[in-house]
Amino acid sequence: MIFANIYAQDMAVRALKSCIKKNQVAHAYLFTGPSGTGKSSTALAFASALNCTNPTPEGDACGSCLSCSRIASGEDADVRVVRPEGNQTTIEQMRDMIKELGYAPFSGKYKVFIIEQADTLNSSSENSILKVLEEPPAYAVLILLSCNQSSLLPTIRSRCRTVRFRQASDEELEEALRSRFNLPEDDLRIVAACSRGAVGYAFDMASDSGFMEDRQVIFQAVKDWYEGPPVLGLQTAELLRSIASERKSAKGSPEVRTLAGNLLEILDSILSWYEDILRLKVSGESARVTNLDYQDDLIPMSGRYSTAKLCASVRAIMETRRYVQGNITPQLALENMFIAIRPDL
Ligand SMILES: [Zn+2]
Repeated sequence: MIFANIYAQDMAVRALKSCIKKNQVAHAYLFTGPSGTGKSSTALAFASALNCTNPTPEGDACGSCLSCSRIASGEDADVRVVRPEGNQTTIEQMRDMIKELGYAPFSGKYKVFIIEQADTLNSSSENSILKVLEEPPAYAVLILLSCNQSSLLPTIRSRCRTVRFRQASDEELEEALRSRFNLPEDDLRIVAACSRGAVGYAFDMASDSGFMEDRQVIFQAVKDWYEGPPVLGLQTAELLRSIASERKSAKGSPEVRTLAGNLLEILDSILSWYEDILRLKVSGESARVTNLDYQDDLIPMSGRYSTAKLCASVRAIMETRRYVQGNITPQLALENMFIAIRPDL
């Protein structure tokens, strides 16, 4: 992974390259921003640039030297990725990391630890790394990745240099997708709109032939739910859960898939469906909808809802997103959501 392959994060990339060029590499970084915006890829690109034996004059890695190749295949002894075990990053994992940091790099200039989902560090794990953040060995670089930096101790945050990742615009996503995939323009627009500013999700969706199929099943389930008896809400919630649990990472993607992450994507699809109905309700049939291929289903739906009910539906879906993000058992939240988004209930 090299900086040249990071999309829509110019500010973050510029800041990191500048650290390298000015030889002002900090010992700890906190990459913060929404899930899927490229924090993992950028951390790997930064690690590659730090240890590359043939870097470009602009401060990017070459992508092909031994160090770059090893990092790309996850086999580099000097660049390690720590992922949570279940819901937590444990104190044992942090102790192992601290022990490893006691040894000088094997072949590179720096020893880099990338801590994925740092918000899963519990308080004892956080406390255990304070000392190493305070007095790190000269060759150590720690990169903490977080979607929710407020969950980290202020003493951790203050010891890290913060690099912010932002959501990409639909146009930037379409551009990024166009450069990588040979998809029809309508599909590009749908994938861009469904990925809500996250290039990682957009690439996953575009390379996952199952995405369009899943989307079809999800929208069919929503339509069936309108017509069926209220008891169907339970079944529909279960169907979404099973789609979420079967969704896998695209090959080669550094993003680690979780049930909650997959459910959020499904909820985003449903949200886009409701936002489209709301757009049609407010602006009429000429409204620019995300789900272009479902326009014929969406137009009559706008007649069945009041604007107030549509706003309430959007709120209910957003609330369900928050529940899922907060690791609350999704089944009940989903069932409640289905009741809230039906036009006749
Ligand atoms: Zn290289």
